[in-house]
Amino acid sequence: NSLFHNAEFVPPDAIFDVTRRYLADSNRDKVNLGQGTYRDENGQPWVLPSVRMAKEEIGDCGHEYLPIAGLKSFRDEAVRLALRGTEAHEDGRVATCQALSGTGALLLAGLALKKADARITTVYITEPTWSNHHLLFSSLGFQVVSVPYYKDGAFDFESYMNGLREADSTSAVVLHACAHNPTGCDPSRDQWKQIGKLVQEKGIFPIFDSAYLGFNSGSVDEDAWAIRFFVDVLKLEASICLSFAKSMGLYGERIGLVSFVTRSAETARIMSSILENVQRATVSNPPAYGARIAATVLSTPAIAEQWSKDLITMSGRIKSMRHKLFNELMSLQTPGDWSHLINQTGMFGYTGISPSQVAYLEKKHHVYMADTSRISIAGLNESNVTYFARALDDAVR
Ligand code: PMP
Repeated sequence: NSLFHNAEFVPPDAIFDVTRRYLADSNRDKVNLGQGTYRDENGQPWVLPSVRMAKEEIGDCGHEYLPIAGLKSFRDEAVRLALRGTEAHEDGRVATCQALSGTGALLLAGLALKKADARITTVYITEPTWSNHHLLFSSLGFQVVSVPYYKDGAFDFESYMNGLREADSTSAVVLHACAHNPTGCDPSRDQWKQIGKLVQEKGIFPIFDSAYLGFNSGSVDEDAWAIRFFVDVLKLEASICLSFAKSMGLYGERIGLVSFVTRSAETARIMSSILENVQRATVSNPPAYGARIAATVLSTPAIAEQWSKDLITMSGRIKSMRHKLFNELMSLQTPGDWSHLINQTGMFGYTGISPSQVAYLEKKHHVYMADTSRISIAGLNESNVTYFARALDDAVR
């Protein structure tokens, strides 16, 4: 008898399976709107010009280990990016550690909360949310509670606030800093203020999942508004988890940062030691090359300037594809209200079609997307947007 005779097969992650089916399809009209990876106007992966410049600057950098907490210049630049101008940053009250992209940052945040004996037992997430939130925090032993977030093409503020009112000081809440995945619906600034007040009153610990800073609007400062409001106006302790996968196109390099904003430089020092300890126990050393690229982009003025342009190129192309798709559906007189497509923000569009319509699109039209009805707008371009609009029109009639 095998030791594993009780083991049960775990189905593959749904979105990676969509990519697998897309790659296996030989139809030349096929469209991939599944995985959230940026594509240029030719449907190809895009190496950012700023990243190319940084790679040239770095040259051959060898293959030695980084320190456990990661590349210091990367940590300093990344935390400055998220928190520049805040008192916490100026006072040195922020613990940081390089992480394996946004996922690794959330992992280290969860592990550090445990190790710090922060008495947090429950993590509140949104329903729907990024598919990994539940898996990640429940795997760490937290109780995970889903709070309704979306109704009729928009953020369901009232239900969300009602759900969050159940949380207390034994709870953490995962907040999408901008570009909510998968709905593309963010709170307004006024709604953020009310969420912040509630989080403050209840003593809930905020974890900002910030996978799209700069990628959403084209401006990091604009996209970091909620984070800075919580940290600098409400003076809250918080964890900020950054990913450079989307904003620098460094998907495979796994470059991210976990940070804890604390009340004092001494607490930050203690939280840094804890982050280093949980990093050691899990990945030991974070990857060096991507950290060097990101640090070089952020710290070299001419390259940083190019990066600002790259962010505008990516976010601008996505916005223009939203409008193009919307206009195509209008001219086809596709049944239904599609205004949510242009009101949503970020990489994803939540179409609201049914799972059977999603399945029909794949089978009949070779269009691949998440069965939640989410599409990655970045997968659209001038050559396929009309094809997709016609396919969608056919699916909903
Ligand atoms: N959080 C959210 C909300 C995301 O959308 C993503 C990327 N899909 C991540 C975290 C982390 O991705 P990565 O680990 O590739 O940075």
